[in-house]
Amino acid sequence: MSDRTNEGSTTDVRILSGDQWVSSRSDRTADVYNPSTGHVIARVPLCGPEETVEVLQSAADALLPWSQTPVVDRGRCMFRYRDLLEQKFEELSALVTREHGKTLSEARAEIRRGIEVVEFACGISSLIMGQSLSNVAPNVDAETVRHPVGVCVGITPYNFPAMVPMWMFPIALMCGNTFVLKPSEKVPLTAVRLGELILEAGFPPGVFNIVHGDRECVETLLTHPLTGAISFVGSTAVARAIYETGTRAGKRVQSAGGAKNHMIVMPDADLDLSVKAVAAAAYGCAGQRCMAGSVAVAVGGVGDDFVGGLCDHAGELRVGPTDCVEDVDMGPLIRKSHLERVAGYLDVAHSEGAAVALDGRRSFDSNGFLLGPSVVDSVDPVMRVAKEEIFGPLLCVVRVPDLDAALKLGRECPYGNGASIFTRDGYAAREFKAHFNAGMIGINVGVPAPMAWFPFTGWNESFFGDLHIQGTEAIQFYTRQKVSLTRWFASPEESHHDPVWKTERGRGS
Ligand code: NAD
Repeated sequence: MSDRTNEGSTTDVRILSGDQWVSSRSDRTADVYNPSTGHVIARVPLCGPEETVEVLQSAADALLPWSQTPVVDRGRCMFRYRDLLEQKFEELSALVTREHGKTLSEARAEIRRGIEVVEFACGISSLIMGQSLSNVAPNVDAETVRHPVGVCVGITPYNFPAMVPMWMFPIALMCGNTFVLKPSEKVPLTAVRLGELILEAGFPPGVFNIVHGDRECVETLLTHPLTGAISFVGSTAVARAIYETGTRAGKRVQSAGGAKNHMIVMPDADLDLSVKAVAAAAYGCAGQRCMAGSVAVAVGGVGDDFVGGLCDHAGELRVGPTDCVEDVDMGPLIRKSHLERVAGYLDVAHSEGAAVALDGRRSFDSNGFLLGPSVVDSVDPVMRVAKEEIFGPLLCVVRVPDLDAALKLGRECPYGNGASIFTRDGYAAREFKAHFNAGMIGINVGVPAPMAWFPFTGWNESFFGDLHIQGTEAIQFYTRQKVSLTRWFASPEESHHDPVWKTERGRGS
């Protein structure tokens, strides 16, 4: 049963428990908006502990048969899922745009990145293999086998309604786990559609489930005995709390947090390329990306030309509602309150002595949550705009004399998600790659977000845990290893066979 709704009619979003789409019993709800129009398009329930445990129980009931299903059969479900995602590619992209507000081309890119994780997961048979070593002692062989962790929980943010859930559940399911997704209450509709397609692909009931809610629901998921592992993506304050609560309850937790990403522009950089890449990193998805470039660091004498080029380029970006529209470069923010918070940083920057070189505040012919791109120049690293995650289309420019000063900014930043350098100098690129204090590095690449085959390696306060989301680290996270030792004979004499190399055929004749 679909929860999709036409603008103007508000429907209730359901939870998926087993193969049943259920209306929640909770009387607590949150509104879901179309940020392009400001209209409420759905109402999502905020489930309490009792309903949350019922959903966990559905996942637990499905665990044994699913974990014993041969990995190639699990893979066949995932291949069918991949085909359905391709068939519904445009529909899913439009849905992401509708409830999130990012442009259609950004939504398409998001769905593509998600499908790549599904494709990675389809090939898990060869990645999930164990290891073996024969004769670790006389007649004793050792072997490792990967087992599922159990019921895995995913708690996801609003800024990638499809991709972030798809970082998690395809890999978890292929490892033999069952899954409970708690999507952001701001963007639950895409998650519901992903769940409908899971059932259509033929995954057994209970293998994938969805519960909706806020803190109360999450705390139940984190601490309940049925939960085996928790994957979280969201802001740093919540990420830290999730990690602490989950690990205190004995769970395996990977918890990705917020960011403040630096983009270094060296004096020898291709200025045109740098301006375009920095603007795309800062204003793509209206700055609502954990890999968004947030602080441009102009090195040496590049500052004036760079800021001039940036203001010209950013000023030409077409800002507007994105729903069903192709010719827009930047869409709205997720909520009016978030827009006001982001715009408020322009006043903060001004009061702290920075120069607002481009002010994105203007009126639009729409009730959507729209804000134009802003550039704040002459920012001192101690200012709030340089330190806090703003998560909107506001780019700070810090001017420094040399690469050492740029590396120092990284060392002093509590986050450590991504960082980029724009340069034609191999020495500067190599020094930056080796010494900048962040887990994902771009050389002449504005958004160095790893693709499905690599882990999403945030550092410091951008990640809490050991094994990152995505790639081979995700396979380690969603499995635990068992090592077995087998003694085949009581004594060495019990093996009477000549080794194969003693025979004519064994000598290769
Ligand atoms: P958020 O932290 O507000 O919410 C994330 C999830 O946590 C949601 O499902 C929400 O319902 C839940 N939640 C919120 N408050 C909670 C609480 N007190 N207790 C328990 N659960 C709670 O994040 P958001 O605003 O939805 O997303 C934006 C943030 O996510 C940004 O900080 C961004 O940098 C970060 N993010 C990080 C990555 C990454 O890979 N590091 C990727 C995407 C987004």
